[in-house]
Amino acid sequence: MKKLLKEYRVELIALLVVLFGFFLLVEQLDIRVTVFRFISQAYNQIRAAGINIYSVVSNYAKAITLSDAIGWVIIIGASFFFFHRARYRFLLSIYIPDRTCPICGEAVRRVHRTSWDKFLQRVLFSKFLRYACRNEECRWSSIALSRHPGGKRPGTEKKRQ
Ligand SMILES: [Zn+2]
Repeated sequence: MKKLLKEYRVELIALLVVLFGFFLLVEQLDIRVTVFRFISQAYNQIRAAGINIYSVVSNYAKAITLSDAIGWVIIIGASFFFFHRARYRFLLSIYIPDRTCPICGEAVRRVHRTSWDKFLQRVLFSKFLRYACRNEECRWSSIALSRHPGGKRPGTEKKRQ
């Protein structure tokens, strides 16, 4: 049963959406009014909370002390360092120096990047390519770097595409 649910998950969700659509049609106006009211109430509450958050932040900014400021500088600095390390480790993990498949050793060819790849490029401030193994039985495909991530200066890597 669990396996069946997993296999037909998308179909089940689609079916539920269809049923919900029919329900909305049959139910006519009432439910739509209710949904609309719920959304507008939620929107008003978020707006009110947003104003509260703003006043909390501005009060905090007025009362900030030197030690607080130093604390924030340390936190932000450490976060940047952590991001830089994590990014470097990730880029190193996808480094394929001789453009061969890391699974079977066959030569790879360039393929189109997915939208997820492009998103990842922006997040990591890096440019990489997607490769696929030429071996039909292997079918390995991944984003990869053919140049060592430490080989470039950090300032030159921020070119986006
Ligand atoms: Zn391969």
